[in-house]
Amino acid sequence: MELKLNDFSTSSDKKEQEQVKMLVIGSGPAGLAAALYGARAELSPVVLTGLQLGGQAAITHVIENYPGFPEGVGGAELTELFQKNAERFGARVEFDTVTEVDLSKRPFSVKTYGKEFLAETLIIATGASPNHLNIPGEQELTGKGVSYCGTCDGWFFKDKRVVVVGGGDSALEEGLFLTRFATELKIIHRRDELRAGAILQKRAQENEKVSFVWNSVVTEIIGEGAVKNVKLENTQTGEESFLETDGVFIFIGHTPNAELFTGQIELDENGYIKVDSQMHTSIPGIYAAGEIADSHFRQVITSAGMGAAAAIEATHFLEANE
Ligand code: NAP
Repeated sequence: MELKLNDFSTSSDKKEQEQVKMLVIGSGPAGLAAALYGARAELSPVVLTGLQLGGQAAITHVIENYPGFPEGVGGAELTELFQKNAERFGARVEFDTVTEVDLSKRPFSVKTYGKEFLAETLIIATGASPNHLNIPGEQELTGKGVSYCGTCDGWFFKDKRVVVVGGGDSALEEGLFLTRFATELKIIHRRDELRAGAILQKRAQENEKVSFVWNSVVTEIIGEGAVKNVKLENTQTGEESFLETDGVFIFIGHTPNAELFTGQIELDENGYIKVDSQMHTSIPGIYAAGEIADSHFRQVITSAGMGAAAAIEATHFLEANE
């Protein structure tokens, strides 16, 4: 019998219950910064990590634009520092995944596989996940040459040829990282102008391993057990061609991880949780921070800042309602 996520947690389940003043869902920079501020307000926040402690930042090879680290800092190292900082003041980090929430009344009910939290305030920091092309071969060859994370999988492409799909900051940043391993890197972009910022563009243009395939989209990824080539379509002429490669790295934006909350809290037209400038959501006592509520900046520092702001607001809310 196939088990679905919710098969573990129906509303009739008797789960161990814990009442908390502040519950943080998600452990990226936003969640861990919220936990630090909540802990310093003596709210003993609990952080539910989700599957990836540290979120996307933790799998970033090096972060060069978080102030205080002039030489850059590894994403995993920064995550560990964030966690230690929050724990030092009394935050608790639990390696658990949320399966169900009920936001209709306070305290808010948040169920994991084994437990139910009743939270007086809730900070949602569930981040966003990479978009897929949804083309033939993509799913079948994921992990067999198709990847969404250069930092995680780059090493497997030592002395191999790799293509990157996308023209934004992620495509160039991750692509440049991949040139450490790959013999050649082709960036396939659907237009003839990059979206990425000037510094990354300059670095990519100056890197002799990097070349560009303009005005092109990948329509199929081909290979049996391993990627062999990609089918391209020229967006101007409609002409089709094939390009041999060992790896396909896809960086075409993100989708917010809002599935748990859909129908219970207000989302914007792109599925991000709507917040005001103080991280308030449509429900008093619930705040959102980081990429679940921000499709624009998507930086470690902005996410951490949103997390801190959310925790400050949650603290004020508790003071006003206690
Ligand atoms: P993004 O800026 O949304 O770029 C996505 C890229 O993928 C665009 O070039 C887009 O093409 C292309 N694309 C989208 N859908 C596609 C499809 N179906 N087929 C082919 N191409 C497709 O996403 P991102 O690069 O992940 O960056 C998101 C945000 O994070 C940005 O604000 C960025 O500045 C920030 N970020 C910053 C850094 C940094 O500062 N170091 C690093 C990573 C991300 P078009 O250009 O034609 O739309």
